[in-house]
Amino acid sequence: MHDCIFCKIVKGEIPASKVYEDDDVIAFKDIRPAAPVHLLLIPKRHIESLLDCTADDQPLLGKMLALTPVLAREQGLGAGFKTAINTGLAGGQEVFHLHLHILGTP
Ligand code: AMP
Ligand code: ZN
Repeated sequence: MHDCIFCKIVKGEIPASKVYEDDDVIAFKDIRPAAPVHLLLIPKRHIESLLDCTADDQPLLGKMLALTPVLAREQGLGAGFKTAINTGLAGGQEVFHLHLHILGTP
């Protein structure tokens, strides 16, 4: 088995401050927030990075992007927010389980 911290969060093996969960995705607060609101939205299935996504992942990726403004509004970010998906070592990715950052100030 691979050793992935976000898979452990999905399985409940390590704690996280969850704000959303369904069959496919989970969102939780970043442990080192870079803004007053800093969420990470991840697929439950282990996908290393955006570089590993294919056309088959289109429904999942679309779901994540469509969910982003819903979660952002719930966190008081109705006026706007930033998103980021760091991809690969060269893209500054530190945790190799696909995640979308949602950042903003309510
Ligand atoms: P990235 O550079 O895009 O791979 O960012 C990884 C993010 O995961 C960083 O912002 C970390 O603060 C965050 N992070 C790492 N471990 C945890 C954890 N156990 N719970 C919540 N966030 C985490
Ligand atoms: Zn994983």
